[in-house]
Amino acid sequence: MIDAVLPTYNRAPLSFERGEGAWAIAADGTRYLDLGAGIAVNALGHANPELVAALTEQAGRIWHVSNLYQIPQQQRLAELLVDRTFADTVFVTNSGTEAAELAIKMVRKYWSEKGQPDRIEILTFEGAFHGRSTGAIAAAGSEKMTKGYGPLMPGFRTLPWGDLEALEAAISDQTAAVMMEPVQGEGGIRPMADADLRKVRALCDKVGALLVLDEVQCGMGRTGRLFAHEWAGVTPDIMMVAKGIGGGFPLGAVLATAEVASGMGVGSHGSTYGGNPLACAVGTRVMEIVADEAFLAEVNRKGALFRQKLEGLVAAHPEVFEGVRGIGLMLGLRCKVAPTELVSAAYDEHLLTVPAADNVVRLLPPLNISDEEIGDAVARLDRAAAALES
Ligand SMILES: *Cc1c(COP(=O)(O)O)cnc(C)c1O
Repeated sequence: MIDAVLPTYNRAPLSFERGEGAWAIAADGTRYLDLGAGIAVNALGHANPELVAALTEQAGRIWHVSNLYQIPQQQRLAELLVDRTFADTVFVTNSGTEAAELAIKMVRKYWSEKGQPDRIEILTFEGAFHGRSTGAIAAAGSEKMTKGYGPLMPGFRTLPWGDLEALEAAISDQTAAVMMEPVQGEGGIRPMADADLRKVRALCDKVGALLVLDEVQCGMGRTGRLFAHEWAGVTPDIMMVAKGIGGGFPLGAVLATAEVASGMGVGSHGSTYGGNPLACAVGTRVMEIVADEAFLAEVNRKGALFRQKLEGLVAAHPEVFEGVRGIGLMLGLRCKVAPTELVSAAYDEHLLTVPAADNVVRLLPPLNISDEEIGDAVARLDRAAAALES
């Protein structure tokens, strides 16, 4: 007998009735310190009063308006994003996957409009995750996501992660784009070095290929800059955003330069729900809070504090941990045990973490986690590691 819910997830036997900041609270009142944040989604914690106010104020006015009409909330969100980034224009989506789909369409449309409709190859990297649509799984290319779903959409070639020599050999004046995460999330919190990201940009420029950055997980302040690519001082041509931008409400976006978006005229793309007033009211509030330099400085300070404590944790448990990686509050513990074992042991300590590939457990707390909560989290991880050792 199949479950009423299609069983595509291996779910932990936990459910939560409420949330407060960095805490998820079960029906019996048990409080779990939430370092998963819905996988980097609850950027400002659970039940953030400012976001609740933004949502409920909008909910009392109007929920849904078709994109056949002006949507001031969407306009405002788009303008905030344009003001703070490389982008000239924004399409608002409901998810990261939809953002990936549009990014791919935009690349193809661009070259088609340029009179090079055969220029479709998008170079990607192993370990990538861009979503679960047929296009996005073709882009990521991993067997785990593509098995049984063939034939895959053509036009993607996957290179070893961070292998710039392979990129240099593969890229040509027939390459449509390079598509990548500045910090791989699902792939195991793997940042690309700033110098390497600059080199990717330079290789794209050399042949005229577009650079598409997927900042669905690493963007929106997660690394201590509004967007992770800012660390390297380069800009993409197209960027996908989602997860943190909605603070927990489904929301995503594709940002692009005017040049690259020039082919996307009336009728070239659309969405029923994308850019609805509820999502955009919340997204606007998230942007106003997270894009503030003082807020981002705090993310950096807390990220450094957390990292320092995690280095101590790793040193104290050399049989469990191999090292810490990541930037800002996008951190990963590389494990010597199976990541799921650590995640389970952490459940016993009422701590939520998320496994990733490459033997990593992700720590993605809300960006406004307190110093005390960071200390508390490390204490819980310490107990979880001790339990695994015994
Ligand atoms: C989560 C994620 C996606 C997909 O986003 P959804 O909102 O789940 O569709 C795409 N890219 C990256 C880097 C992600 O982390």
